[in-house]
This record gives sequence, structure tokens and C-alpha cells, in this order.
Amino acid sequence: MTAVRIDGRELALKVRAEVAEDVRAFGQPVCLATILVGDDPASHVYVGSKHKASHEAGIDSRDHRFPSDTAESEILELIAELNADDAVDGILVQLPLPEHMDEPTVLRAVDPAKDVDGFHVQNAGLLYLGEPFLVPATPSGVMVMLAEHGVELKGKEAVVIGRSEIVGKPMAMLLLAQHMTVTICHSRTEDLAGHARRADVLVAAVGRQGLVTPDMVKRGATVIDVGVNRTDEGKLVGDVDPGVFDVAGLMTPVPGGVGPMTIAMLLRNTLTAAQHRRSQVAVSGS
Ligand code: NAP
Repeated sequence: MTAVRIDGRELALKVRAEVAEDVRAFGQPVCLATILVGDDPASHVYVGSKHKASHEAGIDSRDHRFPSDTAESEILELIAELNADDAVDGILVQLPLPEHMDEPTVLRAVDPAKDVDGFHVQNAGLLYLGEPFLVPATPSGVMVMLAEHGVELKGKEAVVIGRSEIVGKPMAMLLLAQHMTVTICHSRTEDLAGHARRADVLVAAVGRQGLVTPDMVKRGATVIDVGVNRTDEGKLVGDVDPGVFDVAGLMTPVPGGVGPMTIAMLLRNTLTAAQHRRSQVAVSGS
């Protein structure tokens, strides 16, 4: 068996075109503000891509960049200003933050109505309660991929490897909401391979090249590789060994799989935040 490749680039272009169309139909300016602290080259590339994609979707953007020795209080002040600015619909704080900053404090300062990354406790809580509003972009992009390929979820087994707040946990919640039986594995899991082999949908979100090998995958399973790792030669690879393509039924490549979907879903979240906030303003103002 050779797995069908899930083409994240193509699907992301489709989602971005849909968002652009919806932004036009919305008929009001939509604005995303990003905050980047420090000089991590990958973060600068990611933020640049987010601005370019926003522009292409007709979403305005504001780019706030700071040196790595900036005080946390300065960032909190900017977030307060952006929270109060009616023209700003979405606020994104690029992670990682420098070590002297407390990530939860900064992320919780963002108005949950503008929290387009879906990292605020209020949005995490809504997802947990089955009332999702702004959902982290990477796992929601995975759900769009599964839906696009008609993957059967209800009653099936999902195994998510990784339990971070930004990928693993929200991923598990989204799969559970689709009535899958969900197992979450992590660094202390005993018999990872035994769990993984039961999966009809296997999601790897760890950050370890080659963690998932062909013997860990059920024949015909759908394998989603969220991991992004750089080899010594500078090549981008995922967490899943390429040999898994011979066992899986459907599989995402790295690069060109989950990554492009993340930006597309960020744009979707920004529009959702704008639509929701403007309708609230309209209600309270009437
Ligand atoms: P993270 O916060 O470092 O979490 C990694 C998770 O993997 C943790 O829960 C950890 O377990 C678990 N883990 C570590 N070693 C393991 C092992 N040997 N066996 C099983 N589980 C293990 O990372 P993240 O932010 O979730 O990101 C995960 C990967 O996805 C990274 O490669 C990241 O670059 C990538 N990513 C990609 C996108 C995209 O758009 N494509 C977006 C976000 C992240 P413990 O909890 O026990 O420590």
C-alpha cells in the first residue's frame, strides 16, 4: 500500500481563497496585529508569512517587533492598547517569548475575543466544554484536512502523540468532539508503539524526527505529521518516518502538509473574531 498524500499546500490555498471571499462579503476592514519579541530567525519568517497571507486575503495587518531584552511590562502595555483599539480584530503573540517573560501571563492578557491563536484560558475552556470559538490553528487545520478527505471519525480510534496546549490537547478535544475514542500519548507513555498501532487516525505532534516508524502504524490508517524538525543538512522533516507512506492509507508530508494549513486557519480565525466582535458591538450599541 502507498498512502495517498494529503496536499496541505493545495487545501490551504483553497481555504485562503474562501477566507478572502468571506472578507470581501463582510464588507468591513479586518485587522490582525502581531507581536514578535526577539531575533529567532524562524519566528521572523513565520510572522512575515502571516502578514503576506493576511494581505492576500484582504486582511490588514500591524507588525510590532521588539528586541529580546524588552520588558514584559512593555508588551503587556501594547496588548492593553491593542485590546482597546476597536480597529484591531485579532492579536497574535508569536511564540516562543524570551525566557524572562512569563508566557501564560502574556497570553492571558490578550482579550479572548481577539485571541486568534486560541491560546487564552477562556477559549481553551470553551473548546473543552464543546463550545469552540477561537480554536488553535494547527489542530483546526488538521480537522479541515480530515473532513476534506472524508476520513471516517465517529466511533474510530484516534491516538495523539504530544500533549502541548497548542497542538496535542486541542487536537484531542477536536477529535473527541467528532466522537472518536481518543488516546493522548506523551514522553512518559509506556508502550507508545502499542497505543499507536491501534489508531485509525494517528497524529504525531512531538518534534522528534523519525519517532513514528512503519511498525507503529496500522495498515490503512490516516497519519497526520505535525512535527517540524530540521536535519543536520538543513532539511525540514516531520516526526513520521517516510517508510510509513508504505503502510498508511492517507498521510501528510512535511513540508507541504499541516504547516500551510496553520496560516490559513489563522486567517479564518481573524475573520471569525471580527465577525463576532462587530456583531456584539452592533447588539450592545443598538
Ligand atoms: P511541545 O510543546 O514541545 O510538545 C511536545 C510533546 O511531545 C510533549 O507533550 C511531550 O511530552 C511529547 N513528547 C516528547 N518526546 C516524546 C516521546 N519520545 N514520545 C512521546 N511523546 C513525546 O511541542 P508542540 O509545540 O506541541 O509542537 C510539536 C511539534 O509540532 C514540533 O515539532 C513543532 O515544531 C510542530 N508544530 C508544527 C506546527 C505547524 O504548523 N506545522 C505548529 C505547531 C507546532 P511531555 O508533555 O511529557 O513532555
